Amino acid sequence: MTARPFVWVGCGDRARARIEVYAPAGLAALAAVVYACEAHAPHAAEAVTAAGYAPNRTRAALPTARRCGYVFRFPTAGGAR
Ligand SMILES: [Zn+2]
Repeated sequence: MTARPFVWVGCGDRARARIEVYAPAGLAALAAVVYACEAHAPHAAEAVTAAGYAPNRTRAALPTARRCGYVFRFPTAGGAR
């Protein structure tokens, strides 16, 4: 099974939501973390779902200031070549 890259473009506002992106292979495979402002958090989650990943929004305080649309991909995520 090949995971598709997801497309998510935010507005650049201060992020309020942190959404963990889990690979379809299992919940143990954290592939990326997406940041979004409050208004775009649902859209970011939809983009993750549309790409075949499972979004999991967390409410932990953001350690550093991120902007809506910021995506951090873990280098160990499946599909890397
Ligand atoms: Zn936004």
